[in-house]
Amino acid sequence: MNFEDFKLSKEILNAIYKKGFEKPTVVQEKVIPLLLSRKKNLIVQAKTGTGKTASFGIPLIELLEPQKNIQAIILTPTRELALQVAEEINSLKKRNLKILPIYGGQSINYQINHLKRGVDIVVGTPGRVLDHIERKTLDISKVSYFILDEADEMLDMGFIDDVEKILKNTPENKFFLMFSATIPQRIVYLAKKYIKNYEVIKVVDKELTTNLTEQIYIEVNENDKFEALCRVIDIEEEFYGLVFCRTKLEVDKVSGKLNERGYDAEALHGDFSQYQRERVLRKFKEKRANILVATDVAARGIDIEGLSHVINYSIPLNPEHYVHRIGRTGRAGKEGIAITFVTPREYRQLFRIKKFSNAKIKEGKIPSIDQIIN
Ligand code: ADP
Ligand code: MG
Repeated sequence: MNFEDFKLSKEILNAIYKKGFEKPTVVQEKVIPLLLSRKKNLIVQAKTGTGKTASFGIPLIELLEPQKNIQAIILTPTRELALQVAEEINSLKKRNLKILPIYGGQSINYQINHLKRGVDIVVGTPGRVLDHIERKTLDISKVSYFILDEADEMLDMGFIDDVEKILKNTPENKFFLMFSATIPQRIVYLAKKYIKNYEVIKVVDKELTTNLTEQIYIEVNENDKFEALCRVIDIEEEFYGLVFCRTKLEVDKVSGKLNERGYDAEALHGDFSQYQRERVLRKFKEKRANILVATDVAARGIDIEGLSHVINYSIPLNPEHYVHRIGRTGRAGKEGIAITFVTPREYRQLFRIKKFSNAKIKEGKIPSIDQIIN
């Protein structure tokens, strides 16, 4: 299939080719025509890095005409992801369609000024979106599309109350679309509460993780973890990786120690100012630092071109988090490596991850010093 087959307007086709997309991905082949036909609510599950954003972004901009009132709202779990999704849609957009990211930590007055001038698509995080609704600076009473990116997380404990409050401000007759790499059955059940008729599209096989990513676990004692990390980095000619920790404290500790040893490491977690978070992510995306140590704030949806490694410095407690973390590499057809450190007491956790994801996670070893020197 080609993008021409969707009968998109010339302007959008041009933008797609300009982005370097040659052919639609599998999820795009399925979702784009369905959305263009304006018939159904959709729950879409497709692996990480397979172009879910454009699968809803392309039809959305094709269908919407600039009206200067909000016709679509997309919710994401993190600020960084809101910004990224808004940018991706913007890069595909036509004419004067206005797309605005709305997220906490950015000046609310700046956002209000833009909203006043008229916006067609809002991409936001729940907290800030609600804030605007309560201030009456954001009117979503006429939206035609309500989209949850990373839907399972959006309907999970941390967000569900806010998402429900936001939903109450939208009209009955709208399309409801949900996207994620992991949509457990309980989330599909939950969706029945919000939408009557919907189609579930699953572009997944048994394995939830992409086979572009080689997955390895290494047994490491807690006290040897830092040394093991350094060796894993040193053995690579060009390491460009994301290191996931369990807590903010651990992020600070690991990134601090890496910098002491002379590595170019940056840290990202929720205690940093929004300005700092964006600065760090930009620096990393532009490869001005080759190591980013982060909490799960960077686990969902974030697209970093050419990321070679994901390291689980601490094994995630939730198996779904594993799928999303390692999904930061092996994207858009490129290969990657995911390494998970497992302490002798954490094998049960590894077992649960394997069972949930059906992934092949091979045993590996800490690289030895002579391997690194040679
Ligand atoms: P997902 O949400 O499924 O994890 P994204 O929407 O973030 O994936 O897309 C992953 C990457 O693939 C992005 O850099 C995006 O620009 C790129 N991409 C999307 N569609 C295509 C395509 N048809 N051809 C090539 N690259 C694509
Ligand atoms: Mg995504």
